[in-house]
Amino acid sequence: MKRKWYDYLWIAELLYWVLGVCNILFAWLGMVFFCIPLLMAIVGGNKTYCNRFCGRGQLLGLLGSKFSRNAPPPRFLRSRWFRGGFLAFFMVMFGLMLRSTYMVFSGAPLRQSVTLLWTFKLPWQWAEVGMVAPWVAQFAFGFFGVMMTSTVLGLLTMVLFRPRSWCVYCPMGTMTQGICKLKQGKEDIQ
Ligand code: SF4
Repeated sequence: MKRKWYDYLWIAELLYWVLGVCNILFAWLGMVFFCIPLLMAIVGGNKTYCNRFCGRGQLLGLLGSKFSRNAPPPRFLRSRWFRGGFLAFFMVMFGLMLRSTYMVFSGAPLRQSVTLLWTFKLPWQWAEVGMVAPWVAQFAFGFFGVMMTSTVLGLLTMVLFRPRSWCVYCPMGTMTQGICKLKQGKEDIQ
């Protein structure tokens, strides 16, 4: 089957990591990966982003073809309570990250570290962030931590289970699925 341009979006995902490591401010680009799926679900009422345009999903599929055990993921991972609970937890942590950004905006000192798995603070002193306001840099550090955490979880579940097991409980996937269901429900009522 002839490949389309969007089959190569995994390269954009890789590029994001390279750019982000070179300069943490590129972490802001990750907002694209946040906004586009939501917009597509809200406007189109479908999961086209997940099925076609998600570079992370593609990358997990590619790496998983070599490194995955290909075992079925445990049933609890698919359960509604786990996916909903994980989304809620993720959003709380995202909110805390926004709060840190606001605190720096209000005058608190910038913290040059990236938090992995909500616990481990990786020192990131080499980052050149003097050209932007401290809160802009703080958001970049926080957001890169969010992206890195979800990637590490994605890679772990890729190795342990099927390549795209992350997609089973990915907060973006859960959110877009919820939006699509809501839209379909509304259309059914109309
Ligand atoms: S569930 Fe998440 S990682 Fe998987 S394809 Fe959708 S947005 Fe990408």
